[in-house]
Amino acid sequence: MNKIEHIGIAVKNLEATNALFEKLLGVPNYKIEDVLSEGVKTSFFKAGPNKIELLEASNENSPIAKFIEKKGEGIHHIAFAVDDIVAEIERLKKEGFIVLNETPKKGADNKLVAFVHPKSANGVLVELCQEIKD
Ligand code: ZN
Repeated sequence: MNKIEHIGIAVKNLEATNALFEKLLGVPNYKIEDVLSEGVKTSFFKAGPNKIELLEASNENSPIAKFIEKKGEGIHHIAFAVDDIVAEIERLKKEGFIVLNETPKKGADNKLVAFVHPKSANGVLVELCQEIKD
């Protein structure tokens, strides 16, 4: 795995949290994107080399809605950049991790993504992401 690509934060109200994070980081978000397959609306910020992803549920069955119900708002996942997501999924499975996506899927911000179950990673939901090159 390479660097941390971004940190995902679950929020109840994307508009309000966008305003808050703009004040916190001193920069506006650079992108808002609906990820229909995941039932989330996302907003991205850059702070220096670091990226923050805010996630709001777009329906009540969204994993973000369930997360907030159980744990409240806060850090939801840590995403690592990988060069070869298919190889990385295989490697992690061999190491005994529970990978939630056998085949990577299209995520936000032009990425192929796969998630590692927090149960197998000390309570941390880990996202692997590989830039889609076109
Ligand atoms: Zn993410």
